[in-house]
Amino acid sequence: MTRPRIAILCNLEGYSGSNASDRDDNVWAYKHSVGGHYVDAIWENGGLPVPVPCLGDPDALVPLLESCDGLLMTGGADVDPAEYGAEPSPHLGKVDPFRDAADRIATQYALREQSVPVLGICRGIQAFNVFCGGTLIQDIPTEVGGAIEHKQRVSASQPSHPVEVDPDSRLAEIWGAGTVMVNSFHHQAVQQPGEGLRIVARAPDGVVEAVEGEGDAWRVLVQCHPEHMFRDHDYMRRLFQAFIEAAKR
Ligand code: MN
Repeated sequence: MTRPRIAILCNLEGYSGSNASDRDDNVWAYKHSVGGHYVDAIWENGGLPVPVPCLGDPDALVPLLESCDGLLMTGGADVDPAEYGAEPSPHLGKVDPFRDAADRIATQYALREQSVPVLGICRGIQAFNVFCGGTLIQDIPTEVGGAIEHKQRVSASQPSHPVEVDPDSRLAEIWGAGTVMVNSFHHQAVQQPGEGLRIVARAPDGVVEAVEGEGDAWRVLVQCHPEHMFRDHDYMRRLFQAFIEAAKR
């Protein structure tokens, strides 16, 4: 079979303030961009990577997503806490209204289209959770007592902390149940899971590290960055392979 087309959502860069119409002040910095490791991970595991621009208009974004067989929700800025009805923490990072708009459209599209598998990474798990009606911890170090280090200083290709995987989950079928080592580059995490999502992995401090969709749709969302680990760690490669296999159906 031909390679399944995997939509990879871009970030919008180079606008000032919160208004993309300010882009004229730095014409060369204004761009839709996607991390090369996501592209590599999709290509090297059997998919056709399709970067999708960060468009907030469903009339533009949905047809692009419909032309693909799977959806990769990528990393990026913090989700605006207004999206889940919370006041901003003083430790909130940069937010990105354009990415929030695109991720909302993409999540709603994925919820309508049961046959489209969704792999979420880092911001991807957070955004998908919020747009399913869930909430986030805005800043782990100041909100989680006894938190372990979730911003590792070792290479992104190396794991830094364990997670405990629910044996009754898709992730356990892919990674194996029990303890798995992951890399970690986040200060936010899922708090309340959104509608139709359940928690399937936690760090030793209780921080949510993965959620999945209930039911038959293939929706696996992780807090770690498998795109940096798959070359050296087979269990991370299997996550992309399982995702791309699901996109063939
Ligand atoms: Mn972590």
